[in-house]
Amino acid sequence: MQDEMELRRLIVEIGKRIWTRGYVAANDGNITAVLNGRELLTTPTGVSKGFMTTEMIIKVDRSGKAVSGNSKFRPSSEVMMHLEVYKTRPDVKAVVHAHPPYATSFAVAGIPLDKCVLPEAIIVIGAVPLAPYGLPSTMEIPDSIRELIQNSDAVLLQNHGTLTLGSDLLNAYHKLETLEHTASIVWKAIQLGNMNVLPERERDRLMTLRDKFNLPGRITTCDATPMPSSQSESYETHSSPDAISEQRIRRIAEQVIAKLKKT
Ligand SMILES: [Zn+2]
Repeated sequence: MQDEMELRRLIVEIGKRIWTRGYVAANDGNITAVLNGRELLTTPTGVSKGFMTTEMIIKVDRSGKAVSGNSKFRPSSEVMMHLEVYKTRPDVKAVVHAHPPYATSFAVAGIPLDKCVLPEAIIVIGAVPLAPYGLPSTMEIPDSIRELIQNSDAVLLQNHGTLTLGSDLLNAYHKLETLEHTASIVWKAIQLGNMNVLPERERDRLMTLRDKFNLPGRITTCDATPMPSSQSESYETHSSPDAISEQRIRRIAEQVIAKLKKT
């Protein structure tokens, strides 16, 4: 069994981080963690995640009903989404829901983050699927994620935000960081006019590393199909990574300069 006060402190700390980093606005977002076989801890509803204290964290049973806590605060309105995760994935011990701007932009655009782009992201979160839109605080969101979380610890919620699952609180929070960081880089690469996708061979080597590291959680293997507009040279045919990088940087710089000249 986890130490309750330690979990409360960690929830407060992660709340501060998601608010400070702009992953949530106002009172948005919610965090839960498994306390024991019968109970969970959840953030309260209607409170900024940047200003929580340990007494505000509420203990709920497996149906989401408060079993103890400060009566001034009520459990998160999204507690049903978290309960669905714990029901479907008994290996998951913590869940973080946020609205980070880059990842949420992809969720609003209806674009899953499923391409093989960055090594760490390929290993840690894999292909991030997009769950269909559901009305917050109803069963529509639990219904929309049920299938996807069978094989993924990171999900985009259409026109809403992100959901990350972890073997513990830090693990769930770190997946949120990785997801938002990846989304911001993919976004910027698109602005630069080219996104090279790592080929199947590199993806498979990364998957072997993931097995070797024995990482917890589940991922869906990312998509190694090149982007239709990609100007990538084949990774397989080049022997010098330095030469590839130099060529690519030069080409991107030329494209940026050409664009600037046009404006
Ligand atoms: Zn939300």
